[in-house]
Amino acid sequence: MTLAARLARPEILALPPADIAGAPLPGTVRLDANENPFASLVAGQTGINRYPEPQPAALRQRLADLYGVAPASLWVARGSDDAIDLLIRAFCRPAVDCIAIVEPTFSAYAQFARVQGAGVITARLTAGLMFDADAVLAAVADAAPKLLFLCTPNNPTGTPVAAADVRCIAAALPDTLVVADEAYGEFSGAPSLASEATDNLVVLRTLSKAYGLAGARIGCAIADPSIIELIAKVSPPYPLPTPSIAAALDALGPERMPIHAERVARLLADRDRLAAALATVAEIERIRVGGNFLFLEVADPADLARRLAAAAVRVRFRANAAPGGVRVTVGSEVDNRALLAVFGLGAPSPPNRRADVVRDTKETRIALSVDLDRAEPRHIDSGIPFFDHMLDQVAAHAGFSLTLACSGDLGIDPHHSIEDVAIALGQGLRQALGDKRGIGRFGFALPMDETRAEVLIDLSGRPFAKFNGSFSTAAVGGLPTDMVPHIFRSLADSMGAAIHVSVAGDNDHHQVEACFKAFGRALRSAVALEGKRDSLPSTKGVL
Ligand code: PMP
Repeated sequence: MTLAARLARPEILALPPADIAGAPLPGTVRLDANENPFASLVAGQTGINRYPEPQPAALRQRLADLYGVAPASLWVARGSDDAIDLLIRAFCRPAVDCIAIVEPTFSAYAQFARVQGAGVITARLTAGLMFDADAVLAAVADAAPKLLFLCTPNNPTGTPVAAADVRCIAAALPDTLVVADEAYGEFSGAPSLASEATDNLVVLRTLSKAYGLAGARIGCAIADPSIIELIAKVSPPYPLPTPSIAAALDALGPERMPIHAERVARLLADRDRLAAALATVAEIERIRVGGNFLFLEVADPADLARRLAAAAVRVRFRANAAPGGVRVTVGSEVDNRALLAVFGLGAPSPPNRRADVVRDTKETRIALSVDLDRAEPRHIDSGIPFFDHMLDQVAAHAGFSLTLACSGDLGIDPHHSIEDVAIALGQGLRQALGDKRGIGRFGFALPMDETRAEVLIDLSGRPFAKFNGSFSTAAVGGLPTDMVPHIFRSLADSMGAAIHVSVAGDNDHHQVEACFKAFGRALRSAVALEGKRDSLPSTKGVL
């Protein structure tokens, strides 16, 4: 008998297996679900007249790959909130069973348990808000909880629970399902326990935090397949809305992953900067960091939360679950400055000229992130290594950070990928420049051995491209030379810029590289913020 069978509510065990068959084969006549046969009247959402797959196979597979587990060990839920609720409903009999939590922690565990009529046994973090496995075991062992929730890093205190502690607790409580909630795992750097989720260890993950999909409501439980089968029985029949499934698959496209990683790194750096700034505030007794948030311990957190709310800054204070402080999410540059201002910390307004672009067509899928005011990181993967090298030259010589990935139809020809990447980069630069205040119009000429290249740029809002030069070979390093003028035309069109390129030389490699370098150098001058940020380099007053 599996542990799941021993622990489950008998009435759930007695239910027939849930039918989570995949999508019908193409050509199937679908008269089984009392759906409306007509396409929806919502633009771009023609498929939503049909019910979604109960467990969308593609998303289940993608999440299984992401977390390094088998699809049968993973249940895709409406956020990890839903996974918590499903577990409690599958295992806890009202008025008989209980769960255990380690307070202060995420309030939903106790909330869902109480709605189910289950008891809640409470262990506590230490007085210093550290995790003490022995103390937890001592507090919960006699109560034989059906589920023990361990949140790592913990919401709201940021406290990590070491993997060794989770394993040791799971071993010490063989009749309890230990649930490791890794909602903030991507921000912790600690390895996930997902691949160890068998027997009495369940792992929860979510796309709400690191992947920026809180509104799509996608999370999952990773567990032994016998537990997944039980969860399936208590889940509503079609839990995931079709647009959310599509959004999750989009967001997890391989070309999106470098940007997710870059954003996590950025939030962590911002978190540490915020913590350092707030450390100077007398009323804040202690700052704890974890996940994408800070926990500010103060004498009167209710009052602090109220004062922040009065300044239109919403933070989280839970008098019951975490009475000792307020939890503050790391926000955007602007949000963080608003928070600091409430404490009288007037951070100088740093330039914030960045843009993210996602551009999907039938031929290419591109995601890029550009920040004109940071030189790092530069991660470029267009699928064409020589083109990557050229774009890296542009970013390096222009002095901006660029994360760019493209999944394109290279099996046909590099044309689509090269053209679309140039368009997307131009869009990103245009977006990042915003109203163009503080920027100039520039040109640059440089030699490269026998070659001379000159690029003139005017960020005029009027696209124009002129290329003077010729190549004697068909391609350089896999980049067709006839694409070089085309790239500058695509950039000019999508940036709204006039770009003049002249190149002369004997060696095509030198010629191509010199064009991109000179373009980078000219861009560096054109996008550099000059002394007065509010002046436009045009007598028209608009560019
Ligand atoms: N677990 C923890 C620890 C959380 O903080 C949250 C949300 N704040 C969740 C789970 C639920 O996340 P979601 O339902 O968005 O996946």
